[in-house]
This record gives sequence, structure tokens and C-alpha cells, in this order.
Amino acid sequence: MTIGIVGAGQLGRMMALAGYPLGLEFLFLDRDARTPGGQVGPILAGEITDRGLLGQMSQRCEVVTFDWENIPVEALEELPGKARIAPPLRALAAAQDRLSEKRTFELLGIPTTRYAAVDSRAALDTAVRSIGLPGVLKTRRLGYDGKGQFVLRKPADLDAAWAALGKSPLLYENLVPFDREVSVIAVRGRDGRIAFYPLNLNVHREGILRLTRAPFGNAALTRQAQRAARRLLEHFDYVGVLTIEFFVARGRLIANEMAPRVHNSGHWTIEGADTSQFENHVRAIAGLPLGSTRARGHAAMINLIGELPARHAWLAEPGLHWHDYGKEPRPGRKLGHMTLVQPSAAQRDRHAFKVLNKVDRATWLAIRRV
Ligand code: AMP
Repeated sequence: MTIGIVGAGQLGRMMALAGYPLGLEFLFLDRDARTPGGQVGPILAGEITDRGLLGQMSQRCEVVTFDWENIPVEALEELPGKARIAPPLRALAAAQDRLSEKRTFELLGIPTTRYAAVDSRAALDTAVRSIGLPGVLKTRRLGYDGKGQFVLRKPADLDAAWAALGKSPLLYENLVPFDREVSVIAVRGRDGRIAFYPLNLNVHREGILRLTRAPFGNAALTRQAQRAARRLLEHFDYVGVLTIEFFVARGRLIANEMAPRVHNSGHWTIEGADTSQFENHVRAIAGLPLGSTRARGHAAMINLIGELPARHAWLAEPGLHWHDYGKEPRPGRKLGHMTLVQPSAAQRDRHAFKVLNKVDRATWLAIRRV
């Protein structure tokens, strides 16, 4: 069976690397062969919205998936050819627009931030009056890794926020004074079977994920997260991996956003779980049985952002797994990650903090202040 992947970033690459041992084949669609996916599998080179190339992919593949949630839904609708699309486009459409995402959470009784759509300077005044300060103004579409966001703390910030973002449709929401950030990764098979990975405890800095530790074994929060994920999976008749990111405030989860795909906070599952999120995603969309999501010990994943440290010393570090995505360095760009797995949470934290202190000192200092 051949699986088409629209977008050949690191997520697509890790899907393919997980699927080859199952006897699956892959075909990417993205700019060129130098993309992370293009380095490990055949690629149709061109725009990801190119109808001709999408049609070719749909002819050659049984199922088409994506590794990026901002692919225009219209491009994927009514593809000529035989391919199914998974996850469903309705879930993709909901996740692409922060307003429809919030409405979906509300519809399904999933607690989320207070929010208002903002389409004009006057609407921003109204939103801030009703929701209050501090808050975050976000572009409804195409935001990622903290891009397209402006934190408003005082009335004088409104003009600057509007000047920065006012050209796009926006959403204003309250700034949540969270204690922690967690995410849940869930997977649903073609037969409707659902499995959950243990909760991830995430640390962001400047809007970018820096560190994930898992399992985060809080039973009450795990129940809330799984209830939310189950509702979304069933609502969309979903097939594949779905991620929800939450704030934890006063012991309760507040949904921030969902991703209809494998997720950076689940990279630890490659070495830290019986079956990785990437393998379970391709199993689900290929109609194969899901694998166990059990954690094997206690894992930490550290993102390598902007530039890769010299790998020589890190490859010699016992228990450390190195992932280089094969991308050109650029400030703020995710170039790779490291995972380590230890028998206990305390050992894992000791090891992770030692590594973090060397490769991402700013995050290490931020965590130590908490
Ligand atoms: P997002 O792109 O919406 O996932 O935001 C990236 C990061 O910015 C989040 O993981 C949080 O650390 C922070 N952030 C975004 N929205 C809020 C909010 N409403 N309240 C507090 N922190 C936020």
C-alpha cells in the first residue's frame, strides 16, 4: 500500500520512517527533494496546492494524509483518483481557523478560553471591554510557534496590536494564568477504536515548544484530556492521530488548540512508547490494527531550534537519541530533537535538565525560576 503525504517536513519524514518496517510505501508532495521527507522517499515536486500533482498522488496512493495543517482544504477536496483522505477534511478545516476551532470546543463541551472574533479596530475595543486585559490577539489562520500573536496588557497596547496584526481576521482571548501546559495525543483507527498516549507536560518559550516530558501521570487531568479527545474524534468520525494542547489552571484543563496530525509533543513516543505516534498514525490511516501506546519508562524530548549543536559529544551520551531533520539552519526553525528515556521520572528530570542546561540554557533558566 502506498500512502501519500502532502507536505514533506520532519513530521512526514518521521511518518515514512515509521511506516517502512510495516511494508508501507510513501509518496510526498512538496517543493523539492531537499525537504526532510524528500530525503527519505519519492517526492512529487511542486506547490502543495497543485491540482495536477495532487491528482497524480491520488491516482498512485490508497490514502492521502498531510503533515501540515495549513494546506488549503479546497485543494484536497474532490481529488480525482481513488485515494481516501485521512484525517477527515472537516477536522482539518476546523483546526485551520482559530474561531471554528473554539466553536468546535464549545459545541462539544470542551472548556476553552473566553474569546471574540475581531474584524475591525472597533471590534477589538469591544472584545477587550468584554473579555478584559490581559489578553492575546491572534491571527485566526496560519499562526504557528507563537507567530501572529500579540499579548495585550494595558489599554495603550491596543493600537500597537492592531497595527501589527490588523490586516488579517483575528481572535482575541483572555491570557490564561496557567500553572502548566499539557497535551494529549490520541489515535482512532478505521474501525473506530481509540487509543491515548499518556499526557505530555510541555514547556514553551517565545511561543515555541522547547521541552516535553511524559508520561505526566496526573489521573484527573488525564481523564479530562481523554474525554475531550474522544469527543473530537467521534464528532469528526476521525481516522489518524489528533493532538490537543491545554493550559492547566486551578487543576482544570482549558483547551488552547488542536492539531489534526502527529505533533511535536509526541516525538518522545519514538523511543519512549511501545508504538510511536507516527507508526500509529500510518497504521490508523492504512486500516491496520493500532499498536500499544504504553510508555516505556519516562521520556524527555528537547527541541533543537535555530542551530544544531555539534553531534559528536551528544552521540556519545548514554541513553540519548539524536534526530536531525536535514534542514538548513535558520533562527527559530525546528532542526531536530533529542530524546532520552530513563526508568524513573526523577532520573529523567536529572538527565533532561543536565542536557537542557547545555543546549537550551534560556529554557533551563526559565524552568528553574518556576
Ligand atoms: P499557540 O500558537 O496558540 O499554541 O500559542 C503558543 C504558546 O503561547 C502557548 O503554548 C502558550 O505558551 C502561549 N499562549 C497562547 N495563547 C495563550 C493564552 N490565551 N494564555 C496564555 N498563554 C498563551
